[in-house]
Amino acid sequence: MSKLILVKYASEIFLKGLNRNKFEKKLRDNIAIKLEGLNFEIISDQNRYFIKVDEIDEAIVRIKRVFGVAEVCIVTKVDRDMVAIKEEALKKVRESGSKTFKIITNRANKLFPQNSMETSREVGGYVLHRMDGQITVDVKNPECALNIEIREYAYIWTNKDKIKGAGGLPYGINGSTMLMLSGGIDSPVAGYLMARRGVALNCVYYHSHPYTSERAKDKVKTLAKILARYTEEVNLYIVPFTDVQMEIIEKCREDELTIIMRRFMMRIACELSDRLGIDSVATGESIGQVASQTMEGLIVSTDCADRPVFRPLIAMDKEDIMDIARDIDTYETSILPYEDCCTIFVPKHPKTKPQVEAMRKSESKLDVEKLVNEAIDNMEVVKLK
Ligand code: ATP
Ligand code: MG
Repeated sequence: MSKLILVKYASEIFLKGLNRNKFEKKLRDNIAIKLEGLNFEIISDQNRYFIKVDEIDEAIVRIKRVFGVAEVCIVTKVDRDMVAIKEEALKKVRESGSKTFKIITNRANKLFPQNSMETSREVGGYVLHRMDGQITVDVKNPECALNIEIREYAYIWTNKDKIKGAGGLPYGINGSTMLMLSGGIDSPVAGYLMARRGVALNCVYYHSHPYTSERAKDKVKTLAKILARYTEEVNLYIVPFTDVQMEIIEKCREDELTIIMRRFMMRIACELSDRLGIDSVATGESIGQVASQTMEGLIVSTDCADRPVFRPLIAMDKEDIMDIARDIDTYETSILPYEDCCTIFVPKHPKTKPQVEAMRKSESKLDVEKLVNEAIDNMEVVKLK
């Protein structure tokens, strides 16, 4: 008898047809990467993995964060033998302290003589008899749902041994994105949601030294590091942005500052993606959230993009975004006070309905290409794990 971790994967992976093997392999590889340093073995068995590991609690913390994992259960493995199954079932039901129970059997191995129904009935009868009136069967809403899965061995667990996984699709299976990561609440959540759908994450942060402090930069590094818990190593590109901003302030109209700045952020993210072979750009914008995130504002910044721009929070309310931030542990870091490069140079009356043609015209006074290339040439790269 030994304890194992049972990993069930997201049902979407079942639907992937011919790609399914690719998805399964990626998921398995990703789990193995996250378990590095522990003493483990992964056994694939018909749509699930059984993981034998010495450090079971630590392994669970790591596996439940792997995208594509729907559920993890701590299961007890016993011989494929009715006596052993009954004993373990009784022990688990008793330990659960429940007043009602139900047995759910899945006989994947037809060498076992009793079918699923017969097994449930026989084990249930045994538990009832041995618990001597302290428990009853409730098939609709049992306090203790005891699962028996019969394969090469028999695996047993209850609803209390189940932990919800991160869901989504295996990281790295769906191309790559350059996330514009600020120190705020939104962009880390946007990055998490993209990564959760299998998109490999890279981050760019625009730093306005000396107007934004080292502390602001450290905050963004911390956020990227939290995101890296769910992904693999994440590259954070720290791009100096002061020269760009100074040039805009000098040459453009005050009410256009924010929007032109945002256009530069977009251009730099795209140029950087181009150099690094990254497919898309992602931001934490949500329609209507602030003055620069009007429909017109989004259209005008997208105008500078040469690849798809994903805004996974576009239709979400701030409250819902904050809930996710709390869940993924970025919230506490995001709310630390810091200076944002956008809050330093805010016009008194920002344009809320900018027009593409007018912005292009304003920018004709700037050497756009030179500003973009210089910013990228002077960037700093930090790898976070
Ligand atoms: P966040 O909470 O993500 O900072 P926000 O609500 O404060 O978002 P803005 O400051 O308008 O909104 O920024 C909108 C988006 O632009 C951010 O979600 C982020 O993707 C990007 N962004 C803003 N500032 C920076 C920055 N300094 N570096 C990188 N990206 C940035
Ligand atoms: Mg912000």
